Amino acid sequence: MRFETRLLHNGNEIDSFTGASSIPIYQASTYHQFNIDQPGEFDYARSGNPTRHALEETIASLERGCRGFAFASGMAAISTVFLLFSRGDHLIVSQDVYGGTYRVLTKVFDRMGIETTFVDTTDLHQVNNAVRANTKAIYVETPSNPLLKVTDLKGIVGIARANRLLTIVDNTFLTPYFQQPLSLGADIVVHSATKFIGGHSDVVAGLVAVKDEEIAEQIALLQNAFGAILGVQDCWLVMRGLKTLQARMEASTKSAEKLALWLQQHPDVEKVYYTGLPSHPGHHVQDMQASGHGAVLSFDVGSKEKVHHILNRVRLPIVAVSLGAVESILSYPARMSHASMPPEVRAKHGITDGLLRLSVGLENADDLIDDLAQAIAEKVQVAVSGK
Ligand SMILES: *Cc1c(COP(=O)(O)O)cnc(C)c1O
Repeated sequence: MRFETRLLHNGNEIDSFTGASSIPIYQASTYHQFNIDQPGEFDYARSGNPTRHALEETIASLERGCRGFAFASGMAAISTVFLLFSRGDHLIVSQDVYGGTYRVLTKVFDRMGIETTFVDTTDLHQVNNAVRANTKAIYVETPSNPLLKVTDLKGIVGIARANRLLTIVDNTFLTPYFQQPLSLGADIVVHSATKFIGGHSDVVAGLVAVKDEEIAEQIALLQNAFGAILGVQDCWLVMRGLKTLQARMEASTKSAEKLALWLQQHPDVEKVYYTGLPSHPGHHVQDMQASGHGAVLSFDVGSKEKVHHILNRVRLPIVAVSLGAVESILSYPARMSHASMPPEVRAKHGITDGLLRLSVGLENADDLIDDLAQAIAEKVQVAVSGK
């Protein structure tokens, strides 16, 4: 079955006890054991719950993995995966990784003796050169935030396999609809389901999918031991959101392409970052490893004054942190996601004071263009009144 069909028919869509057309919210922390000698599938809800189980099986199916796990947030999912490693282990991580991932590695896991080298993973030579005797994994985010840099996943898997390392991929930006890292040889996929998977800016959640049973056993142990599970109401919301993933990704990606082309020819826009533009350095790699370019793009308007002008005048996108929702979201990386980065480091990475990131939602693309046009325009347009 094709992806969009599996979104709706993956074996987890009907409640096996009642036939209900959506998995009920099993709001229970524990389960009566009808026969003490033959315990049932569920005993305590941190270890397992039918609502969460349905979501976990669904993400495993969509990512083509053997098992899935749902966590209280993307960061809970990512941090639990890092608990696979021990004192003395070394990780290689994409330089422009999500800020929260950078923070947990440098402020928490670092203290526990897990070392990280941040490298530009779009350059496979740098990745290869960073491998040490104690390296255990390569962690990549592609496309990255906010400049949409593309890492060659097959190239990374090649290096990982040659050195017996795990490959872990943050697939938040593209979702399994456009990119399936496990099929390209990765071992673990992580998601902030807060973004496109949930899709409605109404839930914080994280998901993990793994390729083989051995890693699944380890993640299952860590999920139960650490306990950062997703609550059942939120599991239900994520499943509700997932059902429309294909329709949402298709529509917002189409609009993102239109907006990227429009922004590219706008005289006040200095640069547009979107992997769907042939001029983007990662365009061809993206075309090889993913079936689409997604709904996130960034553009540089040259100065923070211009950014303020736009953010104060824009009417349709919400001005906010986050991405991947039905409504468009306009973010200012220098003040939001990358505020903690020193300005000179930010500038070095191309995250200038004039850079804006747009996550395109389901509004009509021409309405978004009209709105951005009026927001970017230098002068307030005064209606010419007739005599
Ligand atoms: C938002 C995000 C995260 C963190 O997820 P939360 O759900 O906010 O904890 C991780 N990776 C990427 C790429 C993200 O965009």
